[in-house]
Amino acid sequence: MTVRPFGRFLFPGPTDVRPEILQAMAQPMQSHRGEAFLALHARVVANLQQVFRTTRPVFAVSASATALMEMAIRGAPEGPILSLVNGAFSERFATVAQQCGRRVRRVSVPWGEVHPLGLIERHLVEEPFAALTVVHSETSTGTLCDLRAVTELAHRYGVMCLADAVTSVGASPVETDTWGLDFVLTGSQKALALPPGLAFAVASEPYILQAAVVPGRGRYLDPLEHEEAALRGGPPSTPAIPLFYAADAQLQDIAAEGIEARWARHAEMQAMVERWVSDRQAEGIAITFQAPAGARSLSVSCLALPPDRESREVVAALEDRGFTIGRGYSQLKDSTIRIGHMGDLRPEHLAPCLEALTDVLRAAPR
Ligand SMILES: *Cc1c(COP(=O)(O)O)cnc(C)c1O
Repeated sequence: MTVRPFGRFLFPGPTDVRPEILQAMAQPMQSHRGEAFLALHARVVANLQQVFRTTRPVFAVSASATALMEMAIRGAPEGPILSLVNGAFSERFATVAQQCGRRVRRVSVPWGEVHPLGLIERHLVEEPFAALTVVHSETSTGTLCDLRAVTELAHRYGVMCLADAVTSVGASPVETDTWGLDFVLTGSQKALALPPGLAFAVASEPYILQAAVVPGRGRYLDPLEHEEAALRGGPPSTPAIPLFYAADAQLQDIAAEGIEARWARHAEMQAMVERWVSDRQAEGIAITFQAPAGARSLSVSCLALPPDRESREVVAALEDRGFTIGRGYSQLKDSTIRIGHMGDLRPEHLAPCLEALTDVLRAAPR
């Protein structure tokens, strides 16, 4: 078994999981309908409500986050979908909607940018859309949009807002109830610092009420199945029990830290990267954020490399120094690197990684 000290794996998902959380998974199986498991399930849901800032039930589904993009679409009102695309995951959300048989209108801006509200509104006036898909923190570019403003705008046109908040829930403010999000989803393996395999979502009351009349919702990913199971208090089918053991332990630790303290810790790490980039630029290294100032994710920094550098060699050189970060994604694969500073990572883990990255960039390309 590989043992690696915690804090060297700054990958943009999956993220590093603390050894005690990994160990929590190695407990015996039990009936998922038994009293003990139902109590555990209720604790997990109650702690997730704090994380999502909601009084609604939180669905804890044994699947990866993409499944909940599909769930969001399956229960969305009938009619065309407006998809905001500014990176790989927002493109995926649009594609999932199409694959579920929806007519999709994409509003695309260059990867890394955020959609001007005026541009979104121009599309909303043109046609009565049923729902809008948006990614809060685009992990492929490190861009954070103003999800609250997008939701308000959508609601003004009677359009439901379906939000992928995979790398923002647990890292930066997501106010499910206050912002009126109609469907918001995340995965276990990003800012919640759990192993992959669980995904969590909240559906608003208006969303659930109208979902009942939407045909063809399927079964496993039918939001109503999950709402009904949540009201009964338990999972709709056999869950990934070991992952629930991990989630129970981790969510208690997150509650102890406090969600606002967690947001502040992520903001501190993002500010460290801002300072580090400015310092490198000051010494003549042409490294920049892919996302514009004021619209940067607190959990993942996507950095465009100097023109003579390539992500493969930079990531490999950093690996030699004991740190794992990610290459770019898709069309940004070679030209950018992505540092995941989320989950249970702390400034004291990020600082030596950035120091090592300075050494790599000061040295000639290999
Ligand atoms: C990781 C990620 C996903 C996909 O999650 P899976 O768990 O791999 O299905 C979706 N959206 C965003 C923003 C992500 O970062």
